[in-house]
Amino acid sequence: MADKHRYLVIGAHADDCESAGGIALKLKALGHDVQFLVATNGCSGHHLQMGGALVQRRLRESERVSALTGIPYHMLDLPDGGLTTGLPERNLMMRAIRDIHPDVIITHRPWDYHPDHRNTSLLVQDCAYLLMVPNVSPATPPMKRMPAIFYMQDRFRKPIPFSPDLVFDISEQWEMKLRMYHQYDSQMYEWLPWVDGLDMTTIPEGDEARFEWLKNTRFGTRGEGYADQFRKELTAKYGQAGNHVRHAEALECCEYGRRPSKEELDTLFPF
Ligand SMILES: [Zn+2]
Repeated sequence: MADKHRYLVIGAHADDCESAGGIALKLKALGHDVQFLVATNGCSGHHLQMGGALVQRRLRESERVSALTGIPYHMLDLPDGGLTTGLPERNLMMRAIRDIHPDVIITHRPWDYHPDHRNTSLLVQDCAYLLMVPNVSPATPPMKRMPAIFYMQDRFRKPIPFSPDLVFDISEQWEMKLRMYHQYDSQMYEWLPWVDGLDMTTIPEGDEARFEWLKNTRFGTRGEGYADQFRKELTAKYGQAGNHVRHAEALECCEYGRRPSKEELDTLFPF
């Protein structure tokens, strides 16, 4: 294709990049290069497993998402629940971004309940200007062009609520987005229900029964909630059809990184 771009979604944990899963699937379908980078190794988020065995399991689950979508996964192997924004972490993030050299980065906002999410966002922000500075992390060549940086949607209100600059109807991608989440057994059917205090005996056995459970319980209303959250923007973009969008994702432009013009935004996200 004439204008092939490279998009990098950066999440704190395996299963975080999927927040932009609908956008990633749309871009992939258009022939763009889409990759996922996860900052932490997932070594902590479980009530029964831990350490190396859990990290290996997270990797296998991420590889299943890659097999399903064709989206490569990278992991920085930093500690889950203990991500900080020191110089070693920044240099690791910087080298990973430079190696992949994306045109666009999509990540968390720095306002978020989870310190790993906040710190992933801060690491990306801290890298932004320095990506092009040759004498910072000089062992990897600097980027020649600053990536444009965007935040994924969330529901946090304080101190600053998410402000959607771009909204997308992802209704057609919704089922596959849930299939992506479905690959994370350790999260969807073990850790997150346990954290939520769910009666674990209500989680069905069997692959398809579990998928239906995931679809109808955990994600039963969440997707539509996002469409409702961005209804005004969806109708401004899609007209009357915006009222019928069932599942949406949105992006907020980050002040750091390249600031694309309206024309470039239309080229980067032509849907
Ligand atoms: Zn997370």
